Amino acid sequence: MAVDLHIHSTVSDGTRTPEEIVATAVQRGLYAISITDHDHVAGVAPAQRAAGGDLLVLPGVEVSTDLRDAEVHILGYLVDCHNEPLLAKLAEVRARRVRRAREMVKRLNSLGVSLDYARVAQIAGEGSVGRPHLARALLDQGVVGSQAEAFRRFLRRGGPAYVPRYKLSPAEAIALIGQASGVAVLAHPGLCRDDEAVREVLQLGIGGLEAYHTDHTDFQTEKYLRMADERGLLVTGGSDSHGPGGPIPVGVGSVDVPDAAADALVMWAKDNGGHIMAIG
Ligand SMILES: [Zn+2]
Ligand SMILES: [Zn+2]
Repeated sequence: MAVDLHIHSTVSDGTRTPEEIVATAVQRGLYAISITDHDHVAGVAPAQRAAGGDLLVLPGVEVSTDLRDAEVHILGYLVDCHNEPLLAKLAEVRARRVRRAREMVKRLNSLGVSLDYARVAQIAGEGSVGRPHLARALLDQGVVGSQAEAFRRFLRRGGPAYVPRYKLSPAEAIALIGQASGVAVLAHPGLCRDDEAVREVLQLGIGGLEAYHTDHTDFQTEKYLRMADERGLLVTGGSDSHGPGGPIPVGVGSVDVPDAAADALVMWAKDNGGHIMAIG
């Protein structure tokens, strides 16, 4: 048995529906999963309905935050998927993302590049629209020869078509998850700028560390396991799978995460009033 507590679905930028993810996880004999879409909890209930009693599906969400210009992702597990302040804040973050993409299209237009927002939205699908979708649209239209060129010429931070993104601070995200009865976990700390940033976020009241992740080396995993142990934090992990078709396709269940990680979350929910079910 194995668990995978970090998976993206079509509710954000993944290519598989929550139901398809559940089917794959069951087929691979997984014990527990969590659907952790960017700024969205709408995939949790359909996944739980599809899972029935065959698979434990824990509520999750991945919130993008900004720590002094560096991106920090915070996972929220065991949140109440009907919590009004949580849903309202996530909706605001998503609405601002659309506004930002529209603004970048406008800037491209004013640079003489003809591009329709409708085309960008079509590429993004139901997922969270962002710079990669603009880059794809520019490539499709032959404006650039590669997505990398689109970033270099237009979309990079500070580039001529770049518009800064609205993001919560790590402290805001942790508070938002906490008031929704969930536990905040620092996602893929190995992708944070440095360990000082990691320690800074830990001090804000994070409840766990994602020690196991596709992009972590064994050395990093060991380091974060030690860090979590020293501080009495929960340990989680997952593939961060976005489904087939992405730039680096990783499969559901492809990272070795001990079942104990899921058991510890369930225990945490029982002790702290966290939510295990999103459906009645
Ligand atoms: Zn992430
Ligand atoms: Zn992710």
